[in-house]
Amino acid sequence: MSSLSAKYLPPGLAAELNDPELLCQLAHVAGSPRAAASGAVIEVTDPATGEAVGTIASLSAAESRAAIDSAQEAFAGWSGLLPQERSTILRRWYDLIVEASEDLARIMVAEQGKPIAEARGEIAYAASFVEFFAEEAKRPNIESVTSHLPDAEVEVWREPAGVAALITPWNFPSAMVTRKAAAALAAGCTCLVHPSSQTPYSATALAVLAVRAGIPAGAFNVVTGAAATIVEPWTEDPRVRVLSFTGSTEIGKLLYRQSAGTVKHLVLELGGHAPFLVFADADLDRAVEEAIKAKFATSGQDCLGANRFLIDRRIYDSFCARFAEATAKLTIGPGMTNPDIGPLMNAASVEKQRTHVADALAKGARCLAGGKVDAEGPLYFQPTVLADVPADALIMTEETFGPVAALAPFDTEAEAIARANATEYGLIAYLHTMDPRRIYRASRQLQFGMVAVNRTKVTGAPIPFGGTKQSGLGREGARLGMEEFTEVKYVCRDWA
Ligand code: NAP
Repeated sequence: MSSLSAKYLPPGLAAELNDPELLCQLAHVAGSPRAAASGAVIEVTDPATGEAVGTIASLSAAESRAAIDSAQEAFAGWSGLLPQERSTILRRWYDLIVEASEDLARIMVAEQGKPIAEARGEIAYAASFVEFFAEEAKRPNIESVTSHLPDAEVEVWREPAGVAALITPWNFPSAMVTRKAAAALAAGCTCLVHPSSQTPYSATALAVLAVRAGIPAGAFNVVTGAAATIVEPWTEDPRVRVLSFTGSTEIGKLLYRQSAGTVKHLVLELGGHAPFLVFADADLDRAVEEAIKAKFATSGQDCLGANRFLIDRRIYDSFCARFAEATAKLTIGPGMTNPDIGPLMNAASVEKQRTHVADALAKGARCLAGGKVDAEGPLYFQPTVLADVPADALIMTEETFGPVAALAPFDTEAEAIARANATEYGLIAYLHTMDPRRIYRASRQLQFGMVAVNRTKVTGAPIPFGGTKQSGLGREGARLGMEEFTEVKYVCRDWA
């Protein structure tokens, strides 16, 4: 263990890890751990207890600018490697992440609070992006164009765009880093990562493993500190060619505006307000089971989380009763006890649940399960089911990002689709029906980047993840996810 990381290890959590060096409270710039020159740190707390887990280095704007220099210096070397060489290094990173899975999951629970089984699932998901893009790294140029000009040869190349700024949220602190970084690195870009200051250790652990895997110094930098201080210099700097952000629509719009001055490529994975439609011909047992997953995974703190349950009036009462019964059985507790529902990330999130519940009840909704902060602690909100929620309730338009479900009946397919589409968001829609023609019709008509039919889990490295409208721009995962980090170059050669 290096003396630098030993000095900064939080003793409690580190003692529980097989490889304590993975728990790093420093930024990672140019291949080595970095404290802020000022000594500034931000406290990281465990949402399960509200107690400090440790601190993370809080770098300055000047130190953030210096990280751009490192990424820019590393760019020529990394982009100049053969695709096969980049692929081999990424594959090593994947192997090391898989080997360290249990420690990475444990670190995630300590800073994020999610149930340990979900944390393990996220590490596997995070690793799958590195594996997928290690393969994709070998095939960046596959386009060939037949010449439209006499005596000319036409080629279209995909070239790495340059330095990429990657800004990630706290709800998936590992997978959001690898979904962006593995794609960028595979394309030949070098990266600046700003993880959420609430969950920085998952990202710094990935940086430790990146160094061990042989990712060269400066190619993968994790720059920790106050978000605006770190990220604003990146949006202003013309050397940063791509900005990929996952987080709220509000901050996404801010970064969109800030990036205009240097005309960057943008990938924005923003908020959602998923409708969950259940028609009378659906398999009701399955619909209830999938509804539980769609609402309560990640304790409801998921951009794919179902916010509005629109249910055919003919089965409405039955669905409400069964869904409320299943919800009431969900267990609540600290992540390490592997409950169904863990703590929420912070007090603001709890307040939002409270506001959405109170507002809906004041407007005539009925509470069928939960409804309040749980006795487990101030950050635990009970899984909640609200029925007869009117369209003008806040929860029907604002992202709840927590374990509160809003249910309302519909009478016709046209009404259900119109209500599902009546949102500024367009990330994902869930559809439950056994009628194949309705599946086709509705899938066409739903204005969302993703449509999940008769199931909830649809994500994975090979699919293009992303939304329409104010849920964002661009796609992550799949070949498209790597292409976001490339420039297209057209070359036309006269050979006569
Ligand atoms: P957030 O407040 O927008 O924060 C996301 C990231 O942006 C964090 O790293 C945050 O850092 C940083 N940030 C905050 N203010 C910034 C600023 N002024 N300039 C630059 N960066 C800034 O979102 P969140 O609350 O962490 O995450 C929840 C949101 O993310 C939800 O809306 C959810 O739907 C969305 N989300 C979307 C997807 C998707 O793929 N579409 C996936 C997951 C989450 P700090 O935390 O250090 O402030």
